[in-house]
Amino acid sequence: MATVSHELRTPLAAIYGSALTLGRGDLELDEALHSKLLEVIVEESSRLADIVNDLLLASQLDAGRLHVHIERCDARALAQLVVEAALTHLPEGVSLELENGTDEVPPVAADEGQLRQVLGNLIDNAIKYSPDGGGIQIRLEPAGDHVRFRVADQGLGVPAAEESRIFEKFYRLDPHMTRGIGGTGLGLYISRELVRRVKGRIWVEPNDGRGSVFYVEIPASEPAKDRPGPDTW
Ligand code: ADP
Repeated sequence: MATVSHELRTPLAAIYGSALTLGRGDLELDEALHSKLLEVIVEESSRLADIVNDLLLASQLDAGRLHVHIERCDARALAQLVVEAALTHLPEGVSLELENGTDEVPPVAADEGQLRQVLGNLIDNAIKYSPDGGGIQIRLEPAGDHVRFRVADQGLGVPAAEESRIFEKFYRLDPHMTRGIGGTGLGLYISRELVRRVKGRIWVEPNDGRGSVFYVEIPASEPAKDRPGPDTW
């Protein structure tokens, strides 16, 4: 609760301060400052909305009230979309690459929007927990009757003893934000629950040398029965 309250208070304070400044009749604000303050209000409101959405989603998952719509999804196209979105806000010193991969990956049976949220969360975390920069690699590979997504970073890493706890609700390795990296501790909990609902799994391992590797395995979709396969021609 303290973590989430703190996360809510930071953007609220920024919005409040910016709005107060904009509303002061006794201040001559130049145009650049005026736009900057409006920008702060827009960005911080969007951050607030993200936090509230995560809180709502976690409570729906807890209550078993989340609807899951499982369909055939193109795993690579989906990963590409999430990577493209992340590339738009990549901090300096961090690079992000979706490996081409030699293996064809089959479509997966998942809820497309929810799977995008899971991958987006893993990639956003990889960026956020690489405060000193580094490379992030995304790889897709077939794994038996599953498709495996792999997100590897060279960031702060996760100690072996905490590898399962970070998926618990509200759990954060650095709750007092000594590195100044904020968060609610809900992202991995939500990801684990969403993945579990499509009969997949999610886990973390240390990366070679530095950082961590998050894995998500999603069941491959059965081939559509009424579509002629290459051997029926
Ligand atoms: P949040 O990022 O909002 O704190 P998450 O549930 O996404 O919440 O992650 C929980 C915790 O797991 C984080 O606070 C962080 O300590 C740790 N963590 C998640 N991803 C990474 C990563 N890629 N590298 C190092 N630590 C991570």
